[in-house]
Amino acid sequence: MILVTGGAGYIGSHAVLELLLAGHDVLVLDNLCNSSRQAIERVEYLAGRPVNFVKGDVRNRPLLNALFAAYPIGAVMHFAGLKAVGESVREPLRYYETNVSGSIALCQAMAEAGVFRLVFSSSATVYGETSVMPISEQCPTGVPTNPYGQSKLMAENVLRGLANSDPRWSIGLLRYFNPIGAHESGLIGEDPNGIPNNLLPYMLQVAIGRRKELNIFGNDYATPDGTGVRDYIHVVDLVKGHLRALERLEDTTGVHVWNLGTGQGHSVLEMVRALEEVSGRTIRYSIKPRRPGDIAQCWSDPRKAWSELGWRAERDLRTMLADAWRWQLQNPRGYTVEKKVPAALAS
Ligand code: NAD
Ligand code: UDP
Repeated sequence: MILVTGGAGYIGSHAVLELLLAGHDVLVLDNLCNSSRQAIERVEYLAGRPVNFVKGDVRNRPLLNALFAAYPIGAVMHFAGLKAVGESVREPLRYYETNVSGSIALCQAMAEAGVFRLVFSSSATVYGETSVMPISEQCPTGVPTNPYGQSKLMAENVLRGLANSDPRWSIGLLRYFNPIGAHESGLIGEDPNGIPNNLLPYMLQVAIGRRKELNIFGNDYATPDGTGVRDYIHVVDLVKGHLRALERLEDTTGVHVWNLGTGQGHSVLEMVRALEEVSGRTIRYSIKPRRPGDIAQCWSDPRKAWSELGWRAERDLRTMLADAWRWQLQNPRGYTVEKKVPAALAS
């Protein structure tokens, strides 16, 4: 059985589905602070199998101990965490406590239970402001400019120290580039709270008429059209990379770092045009000053994951946007307002 912390969230719910489809039993631990129980119900519907779900906090050691005692957990995928950059600047301690202390509590409980295989959600943000593209795993980590990024780097370092101290640990640090998209069914996807910080959820809300226009943060970067360039990756490809990492970690030990990206960059204006094409809607935008802390461009060298995991992203930008748009159309207000089970699930 695989314990998936944060399994009700955006990436976690897609991972739970992929694990179930691959035949794994899954236990989800999530406090639902940024997600909905509905995501799990929909995953169960898509997989045709139930999920063991426990509402609880990853920092709760007694709860973790009880879960490891009660379920035959063989490995952990650790998604639970807080991820809003701006919020992390305002509430740094909450971020360090959840993302760093939460990871420590989890590892303590794992060690006590004799479970040593862990896949950790890290981020390309740990590379900081590097100008050498593409970014390979050899690229030194930088100095993340906000507590969110720092918390990811700190958690990575905690896990490295742990693996150095005890050869039984087998840990994958997966550095995500920019996950977007949704499951092709349109039943699970990203459901941000309040005003979205990230480009794609914001653009989707403009396309569907929930917001007037997109603010493009800067068109004077040293990029082909002046707008920021990122490596967007389909969330289903991303979680497939997690399954390959989980398998790989079964016959190796120590800490392994793998970038999860496509290796291709797209600018904000390219994203706008591509979503206009996929959705048939016009996306109004205006150019605004650069967003503090943003880098001009960032894309991955994904070759290590290909050579060591046999994994690479397969879905192109059009598929990412078509799937995201389907999710948006079918769930215009995400899970939160739509408390009713959709017709497809009721049958
Ligand atoms: P998300 O907010 O949708 O999912 C995180 C889940 O963790 C949520 O369901 C939330 O309720 C749960 N959670 C938060 N604190 C918890 C706690 N103390 N105890 C138990 N559950 C808790 O975010 P996501 O986009 O699915 O991200 C998953 C992971 O991937 C996070 O660790 C995030 O930092 C990392 N990551 C995300 C991105 C991205 O762009 N989405 C990029 C890089 C890394
Ligand atoms: N961006 C933008 N308007 C928005 C949100 C993002 O122009 O409302 C730009 C941002 O400056 C960056 C790109 O879109 O160049 C991706 O931003 P996002 O926050 O999604 O990812 P990150 O910056 O964390 O890689």
